[in-house]
Amino acid sequence: MSAPIDPSILPQTAAISANGRLSIGGCDLETLAEEFGTPLFVYDEIDIRSRCAAYAEAFGADAVFYASKAFSGRAISEIIHDEGLSIDVSTAGEYHAARRGGFAPSRVLFHGNNKSNDELAYALHDGVGRIVVDSFDELDRIETLVGSGLPCPRLLVRVTPGIEAHTHAYIETGIEDTKFGFQLRSGAAHHAVERIANNPALHFVGLHCHIGSQIFSPDPFVRVTAIMAELVEDLTAATGAIVTELNLGGGLGIAYTATDNPMSIAEYADVLRAGIVDAWADRDLGSPPRLFVEPGRSIVGTAGCTLYRVGTIKHVDGARTYVSVDGGMSDNIRHALYGAAYEAFVPSRANDSRAAQATIAGKHCEQGDLIATDTPVPADLRIGDILCTPVTGAYGYALASGYNEVPRPAVVIVRDGKARIAFRRETTADLARLEP
Ligand SMILES: *Cc1c(COP(=O)(O)O)cnc(C)c1O
Repeated sequence: MSAPIDPSILPQTAAISANGRLSIGGCDLETLAEEFGTPLFVYDEIDIRSRCAAYAEAFGADAVFYASKAFSGRAISEIIHDEGLSIDVSTAGEYHAARRGGFAPSRVLFHGNNKSNDELAYALHDGVGRIVVDSFDELDRIETLVGSGLPCPRLLVRVTPGIEAHTHAYIETGIEDTKFGFQLRSGAAHHAVERIANNPALHFVGLHCHIGSQIFSPDPFVRVTAIMAELVEDLTAATGAIVTELNLGGGLGIAYTATDNPMSIAEYADVLRAGIVDAWADRDLGSPPRLFVEPGRSIVGTAGCTLYRVGTIKHVDGARTYVSVDGGMSDNIRHALYGAAYEAFVPSRANDSRAAQATIAGKHCEQGDLIATDTPVPADLRIGDILCTPVTGAYGYALASGYNEVPRPAVVIVRDGKARIAFRRETTADLARLEP
């Protein structure tokens, strides 16, 4: 494992110049680091747009709800909106970011296991298109709000189908011991559908499930289509409820390292579609409902990378070499949270072999503050070098924290040789602004 960085995990417009310098969107990474400082998130706009286009082609643009929790804000919402996709939010904050990006309320789907009455009231007032109902308490709130004269959006019932997606337990949400949705086995899901479908003031349209994230294998996706078909069969017999929308959530995995081997967007679409066709045919259920999906990671993950500056290099005898950078778990908590793996390379020497091995550490006061463990780095890596970790576009900035009062990084979006700021760097004054 001493090869240079594999271009397959870099954003689409990544290019290496004759003298070995990496650019994205026509912008030299080293120069971006000089201009905007580090740590810096860099997003390739063309990469995001081409993944949106692939999803739109595979499912129909309006049936693709970008899961904005992966990376939220006005700039990304504008791009997703411009590509014609719909958007999925799970809090009032994400709702407002989608609206700032130009989304009409009708193209927003509202998720969440604990939507407050204020959040629900605001969204209903605004004319939100869809709500995925997650609990009986929420159903009570919606009934009351609709009873008070607010319009009822399309309602879907979130089901926990009891599937193991062979991903990390914290991002595995389809199993039965989960805070999300209505359990299938106990009959809670049936009960929720019955209650909505039997209330003429409410607008039942279908079912939702999300079995987990970073999934490489087609199997769990195939199994979930069969489970949902069975549920539809039961529901039709028991309640007469008509399922016109089937939302299978997100979860398509992406390559974080060159050894990861995910499905393409087109392959994923084929798997879901074939699964549904077979499951419906097996049960003689007539034509299947319309398929909806909610990709997050697979739209923005590969498009983004992070630039850090190397500050200290420590060889710990009998252990490993720690290369510490000027960010860490406050801008990328995925290694600490899930044991996620990343690669690292020096963008000004992108063709160089990476013959040494190091653990990339952050600057926070936790031993768990690591970005990558025992990963290949150039043998001549030195203090002051810019180090790039690719594939940080999803669940990176979105999970950024203010731990240790380290200001949040800036985020730039690059295209055609130009970089524009999506989020400016936080300052010490920003950190002080909440103190009365
Ligand atoms: C997180 C989440 C998604 C997006 O998942 P990805 O793995 O990023 O595609 C979609 N739907 C729901 C309900 C989620 O919680």
